[in-house]
Amino acid sequence: METAGKDDMPEDAERKGLGTPATRAGILEKLVSTGFLERKKSKKTVQLLPSHDAISLITVLPEQLQSPLLTAEWEYRLGEIERGELAPEDFMAEITAMLKELVGTYQVIKGSEYLFAPPREVVGKCPRCGGEIAEMQKGFFCQDKSCKFAIWKNNNWWAAKRKQPTKAIVAALLKDGRTHVTGLYSEKSGRTYDATVVLEDTGQYVNFKLEFDRQKGGGK
Ligand SMILES: [Zn+2]
Repeated sequence: METAGKDDMPEDAERKGLGTPATRAGILEKLVSTGFLERKKSKKTVQLLPSHDAISLITVLPEQLQSPLLTAEWEYRLGEIERGELAPEDFMAEITAMLKELVGTYQVIKGSEYLFAPPREVVGKCPRCGGEIAEMQKGFFCQDKSCKFAIWKNNNWWAAKRKQPTKAIVAALLKDGRTHVTGLYSEKSGRTYDATVVLEDTGQYVNFKLEFDRQKGGGK
């Protein structure tokens, strides 16, 4: 960040300052946790790379808001407020005016709706951390990045039964820990059967277990 926007910034903007070394780590962490930066590890080094969403955002964001000049200007103004040289109301009034102007005149870039991933559909609560489990292309994953809870769609246990955990199945498993599933394939007999699938989370692995309904007359 020391050199952020250096090329297109006039001398005085740099003097106005863009963040401090003390706030840098926090800003980077926030960008990682909000999904705009991705850590890429290769052997001994860790690189921080802009994510797909970050690039999309820069594509649609008005030029004015992308410029480090604006941030530098705001920081300078905040300094003025600190020293009592500028009234906070005046600062806010300027920002309000700028936003009104931008919202009123900004031309939305055509096709920009395709730049962003569709919102993830939450199917239930994570049994491990209480976070949200959302359906993604390859499975159902906890949205808390530090939690590794996952139910993969190509899970071996399910694949052997020629079934894929569907959204409805996963939702029921997360809610009740079990669900009735029909048409499970038996490799032994070559036939299909119905059973109750029970979810067992070891805290490290997500396992599934079969329970067979009691014989007729034994109740549910
Ligand atoms: Zn979780």
